[in-house]
Amino acid sequence: AHLDRIAETDGKVHAFLHVDTEGALAQARRVDEDVKAGKAVSPLAGVPLALKDVMTTEGVPTTVGSKILEGWLPPYDATVTRKLKEAGVVILGKTNMDEFAMGSSTENSAYGPTHNPWDLDRIPGGSGGGSSAALAALQAPLAIGTDTGGSIRQPGAVTGTVGVKPTYGGVSRYGLVAFSSSLDQAGPCARTVLDAALLHEVIAGYDEMDSTSINAPVPPVVAAAREGLSGDLSGLRIGVVTQFSGEGYQQGVLRSFEAAVSQLKELGAEIADVSCPSFDHALPAYYLIAPSECSSNLARFDAMRYGLRVGDDGTRSTEEVMSLTREAGFGPEVKRRIMIGTYALSSGYYDAYYGSAQKVRTLITQDFAKAFEKFDVLISPTTPTTAFKIGERADDPMAMYKADLCTIPANLAGTPAMSVPSGLSDEDGLPVGLQIMAPALQDHRMYRVAAAYE
Ligand code: GLN
Repeated sequence: AHLDRIAETDGKVHAFLHVDTEGALAQARRVDEDVKAGKAVSPLAGVPLALKDVMTTEGVPTTVGSKILEGWLPPYDATVTRKLKEAGVVILGKTNMDEFAMGSSTENSAYGPTHNPWDLDRIPGGSGGGSSAALAALQAPLAIGTDTGGSIRQPGAVTGTVGVKPTYGGVSRYGLVAFSSSLDQAGPCARTVLDAALLHEVIAGYDEMDSTSINAPVPPVVAAAREGLSGDLSGLRIGVVTQFSGEGYQQGVLRSFEAAVSQLKELGAEIADVSCPSFDHALPAYYLIAPSECSSNLARFDAMRYGLRVGDDGTRSTEEVMSLTREAGFGPEVKRRIMIGTYALSSGYYDAYYGSAQKVRTLITQDFAKAFEKFDVLISPTTPTTAFKIGERADDPMAMYKADLCTIPANLAGTPAMSVPSGLSDEDGLPVGLQIMAPALQDHRMYRVAAAYE
């Protein structure tokens, strides 16, 4: 039924870059056989899922939304892919994304934009717009995203779906094509909080293949979501981050947020404002750290190891082939990031740019720590605006970057954060997201609040 739904709707939505019909049906048959044989199967066995094309899949194309990996068939599964398969999840295919996960609208995909099912002229968010659009278009009940600066939560917010960035290190990065290694985090996307929690427990956990994987028990997110469904938040302390409002925020988004605060109070939560002054500097710090790491990570696309190779006709040097391949294979945003990052890391400027950004990162972590002394979770709108029109910010990188104003601090601090649907804006009738943030390894706290609020 889901494959039929994709065939029916994806000509308009373009959530998928590759539909793996055979692989999906083979996995579904395996689950059927296990069930018939009376074998115990996992709770998500047989449930279809859309996988962001940044996660390697053995023998199935993985492009990361880039021409430079066109035609590449990974020889191995990412840990997340492997865990999904082991749980009997049916991977329907690979979803569209901004090239190398750099963007907030999925317009930077080398394979054309994804359209928001709520209004096909609008963006589905990014970088993981394909995954969230697949959920909103009822093409899949579950999806996987990755969140470096907001790419799970922001698409979740603008498509009216749930998106969770777990604690950094909570889900393995092995086989996740790297953008910014100290920020990248994979996580679950779904249409309900409980569905996201069930998926979270399947993909999370320690992995010796990822040196930054946390060797600690997976936070009890399913139990917390079930607890939250009772709708009782008595005694829970919630902080409203005062930095996330004012100029640049749509009135419809702010009104939806005020309504969310009232509803959480009715559920028994104690709510007060909290100031995190360094969050004002998160965006510029992010746009130094992320490009710096990307300029280093993307050096591996050297025309020799993967995918595309341009100009290799026996007359050119290795350097020339490398240069021609990178020129043809990377899109404008990826080139912009590589140049910014290379500049920020160069010896004369390292202290001024990268060094300063790392100091800001520490201040942000300290602001979170102080706020969590007084509050169990923090909340804010997920995004300053609802989904904007395709093309509206395409020529204005700064306007595009501002879509992640509220989501970036949690990436810099490594703390978990999620977006849960918060109704429709009374301004334009489009979905709005409520962001819930928790301390590291306390992912379950935000699931409890989100399930109660949902
Ligand atoms: N929009 C942000 C960027 O362009 C975040 C992307 C992400 O989380 N992958 O870098």
